Amino acid sequence: MQLTCHHLPQNDGHCGWYETLPTPPPPVSLKGEVKADWVVLGAGLAGLAAARRLAELQPNAAIALVEARRVGFGAAGRNSGFMIDLPHDLTSHDYTGDRTGDRQKIRLNRGAIDYMREVVRRHGIDCDWQEQGKLHGAVEDHGQRALETFARGLSALGEPYRVLDAREMQAVTGTDFYRTGLHAPGAVLVHPAALVRGLGATLPENVCLYEDTPVRDIEVGKLHTLITDQGRLKAPRLVLANNAYAAQFGQLGLKGRILPVYTYGSLTRPLDPQQLAALGGEESWGLTPADPMGTTVRRMRDGRICIRNSFTYNPRVSTSAGRLERVRIAHQRSFDQRFPMLPGVELEYTWGGALCVSRNGGTPFGELAPGVFSAVCQNGLGLTRGTISGKLIAEYALGVESELLDIMLKQPKPVANPPEPFLGLGVRSTLAWKEWQAGREL
Ligand SMILES: Cc1cc2nc3c(=O)[nH]c(=O)nc-3n(C[C@H](O)[C@H](O)[C@H](O)COP(=O)(O)OP(=O)(O)OC[C@H]3O[C@@H](n4cnc5c(N)ncnc54)[C@H](O)[C@@H]3O)c2cc1C
Repeated sequence: MQLTCHHLPQNDGHCGWYETLPTPPPPVSLKGEVKADWVVLGAGLAGLAAARRLAELQPNAAIALVEARRVGFGAAGRNSGFMIDLPHDLTSHDYTGDRTGDRQKIRLNRGAIDYMREVVRRHGIDCDWQEQGKLHGAVEDHGQRALETFARGLSALGEPYRVLDAREMQAVTGTDFYRTGLHAPGAVLVHPAALVRGLGATLPENVCLYEDTPVRDIEVGKLHTLITDQGRLKAPRLVLANNAYAAQFGQLGLKGRILPVYTYGSLTRPLDPQQLAALGGEESWGLTPADPMGTTVRRMRDGRICIRNSFTYNPRVSTSAGRLERVRIAHQRSFDQRFPMLPGVELEYTWGGALCVSRNGGTPFGELAPGVFSAVCQNGLGLTRGTISGKLIAEYALGVESELLDIMLKQPKPVANPPEPFLGLGVRSTLAWKEWQAGREL
């Protein structure tokens, strides 16, 4: 079986998280023919966790981790940095009423946070790790209703939370934009690019990381061969951790079931002391919107503010300069509405990144072909879901049993999508409609 990577990772704008870090040491790229016991494709959260866990469980195995760009340059370093423990649906905050299912998702997400906390602590990874939970902010009636539903769901699950009124929201965020809010304590906030770069720099010795090494073709067989511009990598076992880019692999049944969707972030310059005084509020906080199509906002300790909103369907897994400019204007509008006390603060960086979703929130976790394992499709929650998928796929492939692995194996598989052009029409019109409905939450 031959898999061709038609869509390779692109440079989708200037990611502020990545560009404000120091330049990394030069990469090691794949050259010539290399043999390994395992190859992991993609060094995002899932790939980094899979390679690390394989190495922990098999300290004598040779593990190759292959990344098209630099570690931290892809979506794993482009996100808003919320390691979310609670079930989180891109389309709804309504809980399913399936309490067992929700509790299992929470266990998976907390399993990821626990694993990551231990790695970050052990290696002293400097990624602004903050166990401060997250705020949800509502602006309009429908946002407020969504938070009420969310609160009822949390009560039913026995999960702690605190409801905030407009005054309390302003005391945290500095703005009177939010009518009401909810604080849930379990999420961890990180600097995403610093986290993944730190993970890449502290891999066990038996992991060989090849960066700037786009894989163009994969020959799946007894010995899988990954073909790059300057080399070939052969290994009997392959872990797919290329997330949205796996949607092109029809032969493995992924095409037509998982979807690449983009979302976008922007980062301001650090606010100066006068601007910080005008803003007020706490030094560091993270807020996700009551309406899932709304705007995520983070204030960083270095005085920058991060804005995230807009979803687009990008089957070619790349975006355009025109789209990024439209997004920048939309982000500036969202920023100005929230922070009228900060006139003239411009967004220094704007970027896009690929999520991978399935229509039913299902995951193709498991063995897709002999010796080909999948840890892709995090349904927008890659910091926790990517981490736990990567860790558990290593355990699954090595026959290590656990309760978390049982939970992961019981997650639904992705359902089939309608064929193009109906799929594209449907996804684009649904996103546009939901974005319009989000109103001022955007
Ligand atoms: C703006 C934005 C905000 C977000 N906010 C959050 C958030 O706050 N919390 C959260 O949990 N999630 C968030 N996400 C989603 C999160 O970033 C993703 O779910 C996560 O990165 C998925 O991790 P992953 O390891 O599965 O995939 P990725 O991070 O996409 O990693 C896949 C890797 O595979 C590599 N690759 C692909 N094809 C090839 C090839 N042919 N050869 C070699 N390498 C290849 C890519 O370069 C990439 O590095 C956000 C995403 C964006 C874009």
